[in-house]
Amino acid sequence: MTITVRDKSFVPFISAQAIQARIATLGEQITQDYADKNPLCIGILNGAFVFAADLVRAVACPLEISFLKYASYEKMQSSGKVKQLLGINENLEGRHIIIIEDIVDTGATMQQVRKDLKSAGASSVKLAALLFKPKAVRSDIHIDYLGFEIENRFVVGYGLDYDGAGRNLDAIYVIA
Ligand code: 5GP
Repeated sequence: MTITVRDKSFVPFISAQAIQARIATLGEQITQDYADKNPLCIGILNGAFVFAADLVRAVACPLEISFLKYASYEKMQSSGKVKQLLGINENLEGRHIIIIEDIVDTGATMQQVRKDLKSAGASSVKLAALLFKPKAVRSDIHIDYLGFEIENRFVVGYGLDYDGAGRNLDAIYVIA
């Protein structure tokens, strides 16, 4: 079934059920890996707010959650430049951090986030990303907890927007 977001058509790509099943598995892995570490999960706004909310509820060990806001995308193309817009208040010294990101495209955002968190004194920094576009990656990014590897096409839904719209869709759609 084709849907319209603003002026573009999108078709179903990853169902809500498939997303939730994958998140349950990632949650179990994080629970095992961080049982006694009280990790600080940092969701990258805006896109990761839905994934972060579901992922932390799939984790059974104690954790804390905060958010960071960066920006690099204008409409449908990554600018390749990243700037930090909103910081976090927590003391990161000695903390075990899990970055929660919606999608890794060029990897520019993740490189910047990792650098910032390491220089703030974090003990470890791991990355959970719902989606990864391997063809688009310019930089060497390791994703510790990956939802789905996808082809290099524009997607919306489940937190991801097209020009501000479509974030509330409970599944992921790809441009038709
Ligand atoms: P990167 O810094 O890796 O190039 O870009 C990552 C950010 O670009 C993501 O957090 C997301 O906001 C945006 N992005 C990358 N690919 C897509 C896509 O296919 N759809 C949407 N809606 N956003 C994307």
